Amino acid sequence: MRIAIVGAGMAGLSCADVLVGSGHDVTLLDKGRGPGGRMSTRRIQTPVGSASFDHGAQYFTVRDPDFTQLVSSWSQRGLAQPWPPAGHDAWVGVPGMSAVIRDMAQGHDTHYGQTVRGAIRTDRGWQMVTEQLQAERFDAVLVALPAEQAAALLGPIDLGMARHAVMARSQPCWTGMFAFAERLPTDSPIVRNKGLISWAARNSAKPGRGGPEAWVVQATGSWSAEHLEDCEADVEKCLLAAMGEALELDLGTPIASAAHRWRYAMSAGLSEGVLWNAQVGVGACGDWLLGPRVESAWLSGKALAERVCGDHVFAARSSQTSGNKSR
Ligand SMILES: Cc1cc2nc3c(=O)[nH]c(=O)nc-3n(C[C@H](O)[C@H](O)[C@H](O)COP(=O)(O)OP(=O)(O)OC[C@H]3O[C@@H](n4cnc5c(N)ncnc54)[C@H](O)[C@@H]3O)c2cc1C
Repeated sequence: MRIAIVGAGMAGLSCADVLVGSGHDVTLLDKGRGPGGRMSTRRIQTPVGSASFDHGAQYFTVRDPDFTQLVSSWSQRGLAQPWPPAGHDAWVGVPGMSAVIRDMAQGHDTHYGQTVRGAIRTDRGWQMVTEQLQAERFDAVLVALPAEQAAALLGPIDLGMARHAVMARSQPCWTGMFAFAERLPTDSPIVRNKGLISWAARNSAKPGRGGPEAWVVQATGSWSAEHLEDCEADVEKCLLAAMGEALELDLGTPIASAAHRWRYAMSAGLSEGVLWNAQVGVGACGDWLLGPRVESAWLSGKALAERVCGDHVFAARSSQTSGNKSR
């Protein structure tokens, strides 16, 4: 089958891996400028070198046996390492979280800078609507987006599926990124649940990172929701002040700083795992169908691909059988 996957984050790429491995022809469309999704890594130039920040997912758990096998292959190739301060089963991409997404995207037909606005069903299959309208036809459309974005896309093409997506609400997360000229005088690489901070970490202390002292500070869901439309400069100030309070340090002025608004950061999570309508060839996967984690996104993407492959084999067998019968 020719299959379009909307969203080339962990779920979309995991789905693509299995589909391509089963002989399908897969095209991934992503609105981002490059690989990452919510596993992005941002680099900011400072007077003392380039600072790197994992401003989305901080680490990923490794529990499922198949995911363990994949992570072990990343580890052997220097793309992932354990990060014990975050937990006994916590791993990070090396030299940034996006490294594993970049690796997974390689070898797939992935198109960045392509915001998908909709999909139109024609008698020759699905036509994807992007800013540069594409004339290609696909047998199936798989949506691998955060729930709210999935709902908007699925609404006109599969109302039942869209209803599921509407039920899975995500929490927002304001993230601050701060680089300092010198190492901060604290030994704690991680701060959890202090004031408006849900998580702060010394990014430069993660395995395989270099560059100047760099911290990522993430606000709680409730603070982020309350301040969602604030400007970046104001949020930066609040997060820096909160970090100083949490570490009981006078942080002075960072040599570089930025803030990022994740509108759909952590999904509430349904338990379906995947959604798939074989009759029209529309499916959905992503963390919101399992749990708000990288590993869940990977599992959901893989499960959707297995459903698609299973149904495809079944459909091919049935048509063969009915063909045989009619002869
Ligand atoms: C701040 C933050 C902290 C987190 N911390 C952790 C953590 O520590 N551990 C953990 O396991 N998980 C964490 N997560 C959750 C984790 O990042 C996600 O569960 C996982 O990355 C989801 O992968 P996904 O493929 O489902 O979605 P995404 O990574 O969001 O991928 C969706 C892709 O779709 C693209 N897209 C969106 N709309 C369109 C459109 N219309 N057309 C085309 N492309 C589109 C986006 O550009 C994106 O690349 C965190 C997330 C955030 C935001």
